[in-house]
This record gives sequence, C-alpha cells and structure tokens, in this order.
Amino acid sequence: MVAINEIEVKNILTKTGVPAGDYVINPYIGCPHKCMYCYADFMKRFTTHKEKWGDFLDVKIYNKKMKLDTLNGRKVLFSTVTDAYNNYEQKYQVTRKLLEQFINTNIKISILTKSDLVLRDIDIFKQIPGITVGISLNTLDDTIRKKLEPRASSIEKRLNAIKTLYTEGIYTYIFLSPMFPGITDFKEIINRSRSYTNEFWFENLNLRGAFRFAVLEYIGKNHQELMPLYDEIYKWKNNEYWWILEKEIETFGIENKIKCVSYFYHEKIRKNNIARHSYT
Ligand code: SF4
Repeated sequence: MVAINEIEVKNILTKTGVPAGDYVINPYIGCPHKCMYCYADFMKRFTTHKEKWGDFLDVKIYNKKMKLDTLNGRKVLFSTVTDAYNNYEQKYQVTRKLLEQFINTNIKISILTKSDLVLRDIDIFKQIPGITVGISLNTLDDTIRKKLEPRASSIEKRLNAIKTLYTEGIYTYIFLSPMFPGITDFKEIINRSRSYTNEFWFENLNLRGAFRFAVLEYIGKNHQELMPLYDEIYKWKNNEYWWILEKEIETFGIENKIKCVSYFYHEKIRKNNIARHSYT
C-alpha cells in the first residue's frame, strides 16, 4: 500500500554535482519500487511522512513552462532519487509531460529506470536529439531480483525494454548497479545484452545507509556462503574485491570492444567531488 499525495511545486529543475548531468528532474518524492538497498531513502528526512521509504509517493504537480533557453547543450537527468517510470507514472504522466517540453531542444536528456513503462514514451524520445535511455540491473536471476527490487519490472521486461529502445534507434545503456559481491555476474549480463546496448556502467554496492542491516540479513539468510566475503568488504573494509573486479571489467571491455564506465568506490569519488549517476 503506497500513500499518494499530489503536491504543487514551484521548481522542478535542480542543479546537480553528478558527473553524468548538469541538472536533474525528480518528478516524484519517494519511490514505490522499494528496493532493499535504496540509497535515496535519506530523502524521507526532508518530508513529514510517517510511512517507510517506498510506502509513500508525492506526485509533483508542475504545470508551468520550464525556462530552458539557458540550458542549451546541458545534460538533464531523470532521475536521481526516484524512478521517473514508477508504476504511478502510468496514471499521473508527470514524467511524460515534462519530457514533452524538451522536444526539439538541444538539451541532452538521460533517463535511467527499472521499469518497462519507459517504452510508452518512445514517441517523445525520438523527438529529443541526443537522448540516452538506460536501465539498471544487477542480476539475471529474477528470484534474486524479486527480493532486492520487489516492485520493479522483471529482468525479462527490462531487457526487452532496452532491446526495443535500441531497435527504435535510441542510444541505450545498462547500469550494473549496485553490483552485489558474489552475486552480480557482469560478464553474464553483458553477454546477454551487448547486441542491443551501447554502453555499460558499473557501481559497487555501498552499505553505508540505513539499509545495511536489511542487505546483510538477506545475504545471511539466502547466500550464507558469501558472508565471509561480505564481512571482509563491509566489516573489515577490505576493498581488494572491488579493485580486482574493476580491473576485470576494464580488461573485458577492452578485449571485447565494449564501452564500460566505472562509478566504483563512490565514497572516495565523492571526496574528490566527483559524484555518480542516478541511484535508480
Ligand atoms: S528504483 Fe532507485 S530510487 Fe527507486 S527504490 Fe529502487 S533504488 Fe530507490
């Protein structure tokens, strides 16, 4: 059960320090996809909601024209702390209406989602030059997906979505995020999807948030054999696993001529003032 509120907002475009973008649009506050590891749950602090993160959704009502004339050539992300194609977008169409304002502009739009609802807006994507559309994915096992991302689209639906987008001429990417140690098999994901994916992005699982306990509990119950590895990484803070994995990705990308972009170690990255792309 998700508590829905409609809220009128004065501004919808926000500047962002994320390297993949200059501005971000989050059409909703909250995210009903309720992923176990959601890094965006800190947003609840800025609301008065009593519900848990994932159980409320504020629908932003913005009926004005955005001032886009100064944004020529800039990058705008959908979205960083919500999924712009969560299930309620079907009804409210906030994302769709906002995207319509970018038609025939010179503004670079980048969308990242876990929902095949994104296919609904192909007609608009085709009218926005330079748009890129991605899905995030960290396993091809839908049993694991159901535990980690209970309300997002199935793996099959996401892969079919990215394939359809590619076939329709949209530039596509898959964001392997967050990569779960011992679970996310990057080669398997790439080999499955490389024929219809222009780029692959990577991000390691960070367990600094309130979800740390839930994730470790899930691993302990469902992948007990991985607990020593998780202890090594998250208890003893040994990053060797990530260094080796990042090198493997780089080598695999070079050998197979696949464009791979790493957003690993974002704690370190943040310190250097280079943030990463969306959490969705
Ligand atoms: S889709 Fe993204 S924002 Fe939504 S719950 Fe999952 S991780 Fe959080």
